[in-house]
Amino acid sequence: MLKKILKVVIDTPLDTTFDYRWTQTTTDSVLPQVGQFVRLPFGRREVTGLILEVLDSSDVDEDKLRDVIELRHQIAPLSAEWIALCQFAADYYHRPLGEVVLPGVPKHLREAKPASIERALKKIRVTAADITRAAADDGAIGQASSAPVLNDEQRAAVDAIAATTGFASHLLYGVTGSGKTEVYLHAAQALLEQATASGTRAQILLLVPEINLTPQLEHHVRARFPQLNVATLHSQLSEGERLRHWLSAHEGHADLVLGTRLAVLASLPHLKLIVIDEEHDPSYKQQEGLRYSARDLAVWRARQLNIPVVLGSATPSVESWHHAGSGRYRRLDLTRRAVAQATLPRIGLIDMERNKAPDGLSAPLIAALRDRLEHGEQSLLFLNRRGYAPVMHCDACGWISNCRRCTAFMVLHKPERRLRCHHCSLELRVPVSCPTCGNVDLQPLGRGTQRIEEYLQTLFPEARVLRIDADSTRRKGSAQQAFESVHRGEVDILLGTQMVAKGHDFQRLTLVGAINPDTALFSQDYRAGERLFAQLMQVAGRAGRAAANQNRQSEVLLQTRYPQHPLYRALLAHDYAGFAETTIEERRSAGLPPFIYQALLRAEAKTLAAALEFLQTARDLLPHEDISINEPVPMTITRVAGVERAQLLLESASRTQLQTFLKHWMQALRAMKTRLRWSLEVDPVDI
Ligand code: ADP
Ligand code: ZN
Ligand code: ZN
Repeated sequence: MLKKILKVVIDTPLDTTFDYRWTQTTTDSVLPQVGQFVRLPFGRREVTGLILEVLDSSDVDEDKLRDVIELRHQIAPLSAEWIALCQFAADYYHRPLGEVVLPGVPKHLREAKPASIERALKKIRVTAADITRAAADDGAIGQASSAPVLNDEQRAAVDAIAATTGFASHLLYGVTGSGKTEVYLHAAQALLEQATASGTRAQILLLVPEINLTPQLEHHVRARFPQLNVATLHSQLSEGERLRHWLSAHEGHADLVLGTRLAVLASLPHLKLIVIDEEHDPSYKQQEGLRYSARDLAVWRARQLNIPVVLGSATPSVESWHHAGSGRYRRLDLTRRAVAQATLPRIGLIDMERNKAPDGLSAPLIAALRDRLEHGEQSLLFLNRRGYAPVMHCDACGWISNCRRCTAFMVLHKPERRLRCHHCSLELRVPVSCPTCGNVDLQPLGRGTQRIEEYLQTLFPEARVLRIDADSTRRKGSAQQAFESVHRGEVDILLGTQMVAKGHDFQRLTLVGAINPDTALFSQDYRAGERLFAQLMQVAGRAGRAAANQNRQSEVLLQTRYPQHPLYRALLAHDYAGFAETTIEERRSAGLPPFIYQALLRAEAKTLAAALEFLQTARDLLPHEDISINEPVPMTITRVAGVERAQLLLESASRTQLQTFLKHWMQALRAMKTRLRWSLEVDPVDI
């Protein structure tokens, strides 16, 4: 009887591998392999592990070894490259490998019965076979919907990407509406055809920042390449769908995988190109569990596989711009809008010191909206604050709608008649009178999207106003429906949070208004300016994308009390490059990323003192000459859901030194066995 020892990882905070015994039975025809999933007893539970090594003997005592329950041999083993990618993520972000590997695969793969995996596999294989049969013989990928003829800048970009041999990071710097999507699709097509011509396989990974952008893009891709297998990976798939799509990528059937950040960890055995659209977008950063940057992992993965990666944006992150400047990334520029007569919108500022706007909209902005309504054109209003009013207040006694569990206000949601805390999701009915003095005249303070919506309806009773934010799109599929109705022209004024700012190719939009962008100007976070600039440039870029509006200049109006602020001056001139250069110089002289490297240790406790004390202990745990560790400080929103939170910032001029320190430090921290919750974030984006 053949016996093997399997070294496996499982999903547990213990940063170690586990040995199990596998004994061949008469019915076993398959031997265990590295990269295969396996069902195991763990304590009193049954769990899934991934085999990292298959050995003949173990250092663990024979009587302590437990037996494998069953091998999951239905699917092909995960490749060594995929395991190496997970190992890199585990090392770099300092998480146990098991906590990277297992949550990274579909739940059904870990837990479902082999029969349902086999059913999913059968489905994939049938579709793939059908498609192979239907495909053209000459290897050309035919185009059902006609592709536009690329302009010379797009052509040059596609050629540069397709001609890449080995690893290269291309920064596709293209103004909004310059047709970056076409560049991605043509480059993908070129690589797929190259592969077919040389008798090999290719898979393309295309990442988008926002789940609501996937349907539009998926539709576009399928119409363009009807004979390709397209799989999508994002957090709104059902478990069954996720299993099928993940398997389709893993088994090599999907030619093109379209997804949000989590797709960067998909198993793609024939990966030949990675594209990250809107690479600057903060949502590429996972903010819990494994706090990874999908963009950074994508670049690492491309280097590992020796393939090109394309980072596309009209407002690249300061890091990427810096890398392009230093020659690490190759810059490809698209300087004008792709649609012949579409031009960039004119950006104007409305000085709110001179234009009072008690209801949130100034007279010039209202006039511009009215003008669009009269011409049957669409407008978009951007306000990054959902709800009706951020605070409720009692004039008589000074009561204010604090959340009792957080250092935050409860937000008034008027249509739902609720006060809601956006940090702990506590919900209360709107009080009919002041909880402290009984005054019945409670006032909403400030304005959110619901309040602007209400005002718009009184201003323009006959206009079709649509609000899109997290509240209006809670039901599955409702966001997609809402965006489709905008595309169909059923909306006159679209109003929303950053959900409406990103990526969408609205064809009838000629006016964009930013209601209150100033709030982000004076944030403590050194990245706030960069983010605001990108956000406003993105939202501005939704205007004037179609040729039909050529006879009318499209317009962007920003309401601000600081019209002289350098950020707005740069926006007026559409001068991303100037803004980025200034920001880079500021970062250089202030000693901030990308010139130094950071990590953040966060602690949560019942009392702030306990959180700070833990961080102080952590700070003094190891000698650290080359690493600067700041004093522990409370987080900006100190209390959330009754938990006090504090943080400790580590900085170093050397990434290697920081990483080496973190490795030892994490071991020491784990050895403390504190009951307090803590977590480490490498390259934090919110400080
Ligand atoms: P971006 O992502 O750069 O903001 P998109 O990829 O959404 O821009 O393209 C903007 C618009 O230009 C789309 O409607 C697209 O169909 C169109 N477009 C792209 N390339 C061309 C081209 N070469 N000729 C004509 N129209 C184009
Ligand atoms: Zn009161
Ligand atoms: Zn709360």
